[in-house]
Amino acid sequence: MNSSIRQNRKIVIAVDGFSSCGKSTFAKLVAARLGYIFIDTGAMYRAVTLYAIEHGCVTNGILDEDKLIAALDDITISFRFNPDRGASDIYVNDEWVEGKIRTITVSNLVSRVSAIGEVRTRLVALQQEMGREKGVVMDGRDIGTVVFPNAELKIYMTADPEVRAERRYLELQAKGEEVSREDIVANILERDHLDQTRAISPLRKADDAVVLDNGGMTLEEEMEWFDTLFAQRVKSL
Ligand code: C5P
Repeated sequence: MNSSIRQNRKIVIAVDGFSSCGKSTFAKLVAARLGYIFIDTGAMYRAVTLYAIEHGCVTNGILDEDKLIAALDDITISFRFNPDRGASDIYVNDEWVEGKIRTITVSNLVSRVSAIGEVRTRLVALQQEMGREKGVVMDGRDIGTVVFPNAELKIYMTADPEVRAERRYLELQAKGEEVSREDIVANILERDHLDQTRAISPLRKADDAVVLDNGGMTLEEEMEWFDTLFAQRVKSL
């Protein structure tokens, strides 16, 4: 990439979209290309969900929302860069939880936790603080609509649910988690539904977001697509 583009003033890049469509992989590569910080906001909602599970806020799969809300003051979320991954790992109260937040148990509950207004208010404030200096690529569901409505570049990612399920299946298998394709498809469809229909900050495309349907694309093609878009956008700023 042209270094004059890279050295231009830093911007905020918002990457929103459906579950498991490769937002984090895309956002991480874009951040590395530009020397920006990558922030995975889904990891933050997952970390709160893990805390809820581990601290008695979930009984027989039922979430005790009031108990979780009362515990929010006890939850401190932070990121620390992990050079092996080329991205930041997430910590809750200084405990490394990166390895525990992507299980199907957390996935099955996270969209309920993320629909709670008090949870969103806190995490959105933290995300806004993290992006205050710009030079960030943040991925999530409401980054371009709520967290950074004035982001200079907004991308809305999507792909066919079957393609997304297959990717998530291979990812979990690689980590040794035993889970069926059917369970993953069901989880993805349920999260799509809950994320799009919740009352607060539902997943939707910002009016000024550019759509990337990456179903049939390789990562190299996605990066070429991004380079063109980014070059056009910085020229127009
Ligand atoms: O991105 P990921 O699939 O890890 O996100 C997990 C869940 O966190 C989503 O299904 C959604 O319910 C929630 N989320 C959210 N807002 C964000 C990021 C994630 O509600 N900005």
